[in-house]
Amino acid sequence: MSNPVYLTFFGGLGEIGRNCAALEADGRIVMLDCGQLFPDNMPGVDAVLPDFRWLLDRADRLEACVVTHAHEDHIGGLPYFLRALADLGETLPIYGAPFTLGMVRGKLKSAGVPVPDLIPLDDYAKLPIGPFDCEFLPVTHSTPSGLMTVFHTPQGRILHSSDFKLDPTPIDGRITDLNRVRELAADGGIRLLLADSTNAGVAGSSTSESTIGPVLRQVFDENKGRRIIVGAFSSHIHRIQQVADAAAANNRKLVVMGPSMVRNTTLARELGLLRVSDQILIRDIDLEDLDPAETCIVCTGSQGEPRAALNLMGQGRHRFVTVGDQDTVVFSSHPIPGNEAAVARLHNALARRGVRLVHSGQLGVHTTGHGKADELLALHDAADPNLFIPVHGEYAHLVAHHDLALGRGMGEDEVLRCTDGDRVKLTSGGVFHDGRVPDGHVMVDESGRMISDDLLEERRAMSGEGFVFVRVMVDSRKGQLAEPVVVESRGWVEPDSRDNWHERAADEVAKALAGPLADGNRDAHELRRLTRRATGRLVARGTGRKPTLVPVVEVR
Ligand SMILES: [Zn+2]
Ligand SMILES: [Zn+2]
Repeated sequence: MSNPVYLTFFGGLGEIGRNCAALEADGRIVMLDCGQLFPDNMPGVDAVLPDFRWLLDRADRLEACVVTHAHEDHIGGLPYFLRALADLGETLPIYGAPFTLGMVRGKLKSAGVPVPDLIPLDDYAKLPIGPFDCEFLPVTHSTPSGLMTVFHTPQGRILHSSDFKLDPTPIDGRITDLNRVRELAADGGIRLLLADSTNAGVAGSSTSESTIGPVLRQVFDENKGRRIIVGAFSSHIHRIQQVADAAAANNRKLVVMGPSMVRNTTLARELGLLRVSDQILIRDIDLEDLDPAETCIVCTGSQGEPRAALNLMGQGRHRFVTVGDQDTVVFSSHPIPGNEAAVARLHNALARRGVRLVHSGQLGVHTTGHGKADELLALHDAADPNLFIPVHGEYAHLVAHHDLALGRGMGEDEVLRCTDGDRVKLTSGGVFHDGRVPDGHVMVDESGRMISDDLLEERRAMSGEGFVFVRVMVDSRKGQLAEPVVVESRGWVEPDSRDNWHERAADEVAKALAGPLADGNRDAHELRRLTRRATGRLVARGTGRKPTLVPVVEVR
């Protein structure tokens, strides 16, 4: 009997983001992706990471990390994880496509983290990684060079789809290779499939990326005489390619704007993944020498990100570009769930400046990178797996994918529903839950310092309700206040009424403490409790708010 294979899911199963898993055989571990989750309503949090403790505790048994593609939800955790490994005196080779590794290298360098061995994978590469013989197949996605991984394990083949769609006409002609999947299925079979669930709940098939080009050209035709600004994801090289082609066809100069846009397009051009002639590329600083109607800007910020180019334009704070009624802004992306309000605000800010907006609600200027139900079923048909675990999705997406597999004829005992923190065991008898690992959100600031739930809760409370600070000095010998009570606050009441409220609070506290002090109470802890209660009563009765109360009592 062969040894079992273990899979552990650290993130990405239950919400979109921080994809990270480990495959383990004979005690040797290979990581699959190491992503981050973008924080949503978390003041001062720059990234949400998987809980890496389980992996760090086994650092000596980690053989490598395979990264499937260049999106943040797959590589964004690497700087933090590798830094934590470095602190233990360890490092980890990383395998991925050259474009993905280029992105990883850039991230590590800008985070000041030592770059480990980066081992490039070509399409169809076959090589041993840790305890597994691996094979890498091309998949089409919204960033170039996505890789599906076939792990040959003691328990049969595990196929991980990566994020993918089935696009018969991708911009680079690089098609998700279901033929090779079919071959593998026919020759030895696929034991366990792990597949992208993002669009499992959406019927039909996604639209081809190459449908975007003609729509963009139509937009360029209809906006002659105006400047055209296109917002897109900086890692979506094929979208940028189509914008560049439309600009070239219209004799417009192209500006690539925003640090990540510049970095990613430079890398993609070096690798031959993006073809833009030097003739049409200009720098943002050169814009002022040109007629705006002869330019096109492609930039970041289509998700309403506060510091990105589009938002600065919307607020009239961009260094080189002042937008107005001679501008057309194309949103070549959908808002990611959670960003809808920010995107709507950005639309309004631009519209207020007279900008003409073009977005995917009106015209086909965007298509998804994740296959919909029919595409997922095509993968299932090709792989015809014995066992299946839906991965990469919000919980509802995982359930939808689970149901798709059952609808296709898989049995209840052949589809295992997993969520973050689940560890599963693959044996000759099937795939089973086998315990849990820590799965909490690890929140970090830009420097990588951790932010606890308690700290975040304090920040949220203060950002919504403000805080009130009360300082009490007690003269223990005399049994009275040594100085008047000091009250300060922020975010609690209107600034012009603040002094008045502070005085009232100070009076209430002084009154509440007078009796106990006269009775000989000198216990700082108890006096602080009384201070808090007196302040809280005034705050609640007087203003109906719940600011954070910070009483400080000193007895001397
Ligand atoms: Zn992706
Ligand atoms: Zn993803």
